[in-house]
Amino acid sequence: MTRISSKGFVLASFPYRDRDRMLHILTPDYGLISASARGACSVKSKLRPLSNLFSLCNFDFFYQRERFYVDDGELIEAFLPLSESIEHLTAASHAAEVFKDLTRNSPPDSKYFDLWAYTAYEISQSESPVLISRLSTLRLLAEAGYAPHLDSCCICQRPVRGEADFSFRLSGILCGRRDCSGNASEDSIRLSEGTLALLRHILTANLNRLYRFTVADDVVANASRFLDLYLNEKMEKTYKKLDLLADPFDIDLSGLQRKCD
Ligand SMILES: [Zn+2]
Repeated sequence: MTRISSKGFVLASFPYRDRDRMLHILTPDYGLISASARGACSVKSKLRPLSNLFSLCNFDFFYQRERFYVDDGELIEAFLPLSESIEHLTAASHAAEVFKDLTRNSPPDSKYFDLWAYTAYEISQSESPVLISRLSTLRLLAEAGYAPHLDSCCICQRPVRGEADFSFRLSGILCGRRDCSGNASEDSIRLSEGTLALLRHILTANLNRLYRFTVADDVVANASRFLDLYLNEKMEKTYKKLDLLADPFDIDLSGLQRKCD
């Protein structure tokens, strides 16, 4: 039996067997760990406070027969503001799903843990949690090697000023020259100058400055449309949690449940 200790964020937590919970925990050194917390649904369990969605904890794991189990630990931060509104909870759930999907098949790297830490904090404090959530997925994709080409025209490499068409097929922006703009097709989207400035900031800023910006409403709308399309394209999956905010009475809320009861 092997034992390891690590801090980690609970990115998913769901009931498993009778009173257990299955956790997906993002750690700095071991990547995403799937671990069973035995008896964690019991009111008296010491593992119960460690099993709540989005909590940051110090965990003690043991590894036995190719499975991780939570043995003990202590709560560092519960991130309770994440559940104070449906908007915050949905924003955090969307980002958590993407982080989980991407880190599940990526080599462990503390950069993903650090990005989630800044993102979880910012979503919990922000008045625009959904925008923060969407932007975090772009930085995550960039950290994993899937950054869009926004510095210059992706065909001729000339600088691009002002607005530009973004081609999803070429994963970059196109300048207005006829040879290049002819590549814009039904798979492209027009990005405004403000949107491009925001996206470039998210791709390059240090993490402690990542979410320090102000944007106009039209930029939020344009950037959000792009970010959803880019995410679905790169992850080859349609993410639906944010749809909840458009039609909150029409979606199963059980996936957003934080606790056993
Ligand atoms: Zn060009």
